[in-house]
Amino acid sequence: MHNSRIITNEFDFCQPATLTELFGLLNEPGGDDRLIAGGTDILVMMKEGRHCPKRLVSTMKIDELDFIEIKDGVMRIGAATKLKKVAAACREIKSILALHEGVSSIGKLQILNMATIAGNICTASPAADSVPPLLTLGTTLTLKSGDGERQVALEDFILGPGKTAIGRDEIVYSVNIPLPAEGVGSSFRKMERVGADIAKINIAISIKRNGDVCESCKVAVGSCAPTALLIDEPGGILSGQLISDPESDLIRRAGVAVSEAIRPIDDIRSTAEYRRKVAKVLFMDVFQVAWDRAKGDAS
Ligand SMILES: Cc1cc2nc3c(=O)[nH]c(=O)nc-3n(C[C@H](O)[C@H](O)[C@H](O)COP(=O)(O)OP(=O)(O)OC[C@H]3O[C@@H](n4cnc5c(N)ncnc54)[C@H](O)[C@@H]3O)c2cc1C
Repeated sequence: MHNSRIITNEFDFCQPATLTELFGLLNEPGGDDRLIAGGTDILVMMKEGRHCPKRLVSTMKIDELDFIEIKDGVMRIGAATKLKKVAAACREIKSILALHEGVSSIGKLQILNMATIAGNICTASPAADSVPPLLTLGTTLTLKSGDGERQVALEDFILGPGKTAIGRDEIVYSVNIPLPAEGVGSSFRKMERVGADIAKINIAISIKRNGDVCESCKVAVGSCAPTALLIDEPGGILSGQLISDPESDLIRRAGVAVSEAIRPIDDIRSTAEYRRKVAKVLFMDVFQVAWDRAKGDAS
């Protein structure tokens, strides 16, 4: 059994100040590097012996990675931007309130003050709370290496628990969120065992509303499969439908579709049966909140 409090392997620690310096380090031959940002996941894994890199390379002194900008309808968040700053920026934009809620729910203030948006994504935890809202918003990532850059849809980036599509010499440079048009409302909910816990299940929704017609409905659920899942069925049931009552049978049917589409397991945090039951109820809750939020712009 591993001691959970002491990092037993020796490692070097580098804090480059520029991207050029960072890529120089990552390109050194024979390197066994691991990126570290806030360290709130990677250090826990090193204490548990799950990762034993020879060198940690920090992103936190690189000013080029700490930014939030909105240009041409896209919010770009630099990889090393702290979660507290991300939550504050998203609170100001009604259509992405789900992202504000998801990010704000991560740990407590200490975590929000240390951890970064790229760290939450790259850990590739099925329970990561920023991921369901980001999926419903059609987020892409800009990956950079010493040789150039490429864009990847978030949906294609997270491959399984702890696994991503990132290359050995690549980093996530920015998280790119297309800001929804008018008439979009969103919402996020999470069930935990206790406060400041990892989710038993989390869910995000983004609805486009035109008067009382639901034009589109995007739903993502976390902690109920090896990766957070974008679920198409509610969109199929609700798109183009007149919503006379957000608690109607139609919404209930969409909730059942969500609970049937997830692939939950029994684990230390919950059971598959509980997750399926709660998925339907959470869907109905987030639908109602997002539907009301979408109204202001639409009618
Ligand atoms: C007490 C506690 C409570 C927590 N509660 C929650 C919670 O409620 N919800 C939740 O989702 N998470 C929770 N977490 C997990 C954790 O805080 C988050 O996942 C956090 O966002 C990780 O960010 P970080 O900057 O600390 O990442 P780090 O630990 O520094 O790195 C995490 C991973 O990302 C990689 N990485 C970092 N930056 C980059 C980059 N730019 N490019 C490529 N790879 C990169 C690292 O190599 C590493 O593999 C909790 C953790 C603790 C300790």
